[in-house]
Amino acid sequence: MRIGILALQGAVEPHAEKLRSRGAEVVEVRLTRDLADIAGIILPGGESTAMIKILHKNKLWEDLKAFTATRPSWGVCAGAILLARKVTSPEQASLDAIDVEIERNAFGRQKDSFIGDLVSTPSWPKEPVSGVFIRAPRIRATGPDVQVLLKWGDEPVMVRSGKTLLSTFHPELTDGTQVHDYFLSFCQP
Ligand code: GLN
Repeated sequence: MRIGILALQGAVEPHAEKLRSRGAEVVEVRLTRDLADIAGIILPGGESTAMIKILHKNKLWEDLKAFTATRPSWGVCAGAILLARKVTSPEQASLDAIDVEIERNAFGRQKDSFIGDLVSTPSWPKEPVSGVFIRAPRIRATGPDVQVLLKWGDEPVMVRSGKTLLSTFHPELTDGTQVHDYFLSFCQP
């Protein structure tokens, strides 16, 4: 199975390694033509404002929006900010792939980055995972069709609606492939 990783900026290689270790073929997505033959896409962590600028420069914004509207898409941290319906702190444009409101940098500055044990909900079918949060956003509101999979304390940190997955933490930076396996399971045709 061919899986795309948006490769404009940010943490691309750790996702590629996890995907390859599970037998997937990785396509680095930089231009519209890279979307042609992939079963799903990961939007990695990094800096969402920088990604937005490069998406426009590469004329990829509209085509990525169309792809993520219907096809399996997983946004990690900055990628989650790109896929959310509404972004605050400050407000910025997004691809509006999932009915979630997200607040940028909501845990504070880089030095406030941390690793936390996550709480599995009954909807999470895999082993528990721990969460690396790096200048992470916080999910502030979710629509009625959004399912919470993992929480940190009481708040959602991984959610899903249809074929769209968001995590505000970085599963590519911890051991194990539970979250990558979960995403691959709904990239199957
Ligand atoms: N703070 C970044 C942003 O707002 C996200 C950080 C990350 O992806 N680790 O885009």
